[in-house]
Amino acid sequence: MAERDGDGASGAGAADVLTVRGLKKHFPIKRGILKHTVGWIRAVDDVSFQVRRGETLGLVGESGSGKTTVLRLLVRAVEPTGGHVVFRPHDGPPIDVVAADREALKAVRRRIRVVFQDPESSLNPRMTVRRVIGEPLMVNDGMKGDRLDDAVKRLMRMVGLKPEQRSRYPYAFSGGQRQRIGVARALALDPQLLLADEPTSALDVSVQAQILNLLLDLQRDLHLTVLFVTHDLSVIRHMTDRVAVMYLGNFVEVGERRDIFRRPKHPYTEALFSGIPQPNPHRPLKRIILEGDIPDVAKVPAGCPFHTRCPYRQPVCEEEPPPLAPAGGDGHGSAGHLAACHFADELRLKGEDDLLGSA
Ligand code: SF4
Repeated sequence: MAERDGDGASGAGAADVLTVRGLKKHFPIKRGILKHTVGWIRAVDDVSFQVRRGETLGLVGESGSGKTTVLRLLVRAVEPTGGHVVFRPHDGPPIDVVAADREALKAVRRRIRVVFQDPESSLNPRMTVRRVIGEPLMVNDGMKGDRLDDAVKRLMRMVGLKPEQRSRYPYAFSGGQRQRIGVARALALDPQLLLADEPTSALDVSVQAQILNLLLDLQRDLHLTVLFVTHDLSVIRHMTDRVAVMYLGNFVEVGERRDIFRRPKHPYTEALFSGIPQPNPHRPLKRIILEGDIPDVAKVPAGCPFHTRCPYRQPVCEEEPPPLAPAGGDGHGSAGHLAACHFADELRLKGEDDLLGSA
């Protein structure tokens, strides 16, 4: 699988497609016959970030960290509890997504499209592939007849499918082909931002690389911006320009992909990265095993949320929540590298090279 040239469109000064500030989603925990609220699940808690035009930003974290909820909030598939999301299409004025009315939201959802995790369940089995791919064009643009047929054929070619198979149903295709159908549907309305939600995790390993390479090619050819959610760090390594690491509903580290892999600034990132499978089996990474499991999101620990598992914790960590702040005051970091750790500049955390075992 080809690796991205990480310097391209992610360079400093590139305009932001998306600006997110203080985004929150808290779900109430209800109990009893009267359904009283007895607590809150802070699925996403005060998340701020931006997505630069043309880049691929990777969102990574364990299951339950809140990454998929962030994606859903960006298109208001779930309503935020608070915060701001501003989308800047290249062909129109900025749109305040959280305050958007029906029409404005329609415009947002036209330009921000989602590639779902499981092609099996995201495609309607009763629709032909022509209908699956063409539906967004029929619904949004009233397209039909030969024009629709031509558009579907073009989209199928674009994702490596044979247009003559457009009358078949999704079950007649393999898992990888079904994901190509999902990608074609996501591209139908000519989006500017693609939200890819674990798009390969339901696929056989043998076809994962094909879908990832397809997404890389499409991103380059169509000048797409991509927000890529995954728990798979080898995917992050190959697909992204920048990385945001999530833990218990918040970002703990954000930075250029190369900086984060070489010199992580948060102990959670260091441990997470130590589990990346290596191409050379004789040189596995020295895995850092964290204490315990990820805590219940309904009971996020006070102070630093990671302190219950952190091998470097100090007394202050149990009391003071560390802000997500610029890291790299030790000379090992670059602009835009942020970490939520009181000791980000003092700890000498191991990057991928330091964790490699000997041959
Ligand atoms: Fe670990 Fe403390 Fe840093 Fe949290 S603030 S990551 S507990 S060292």
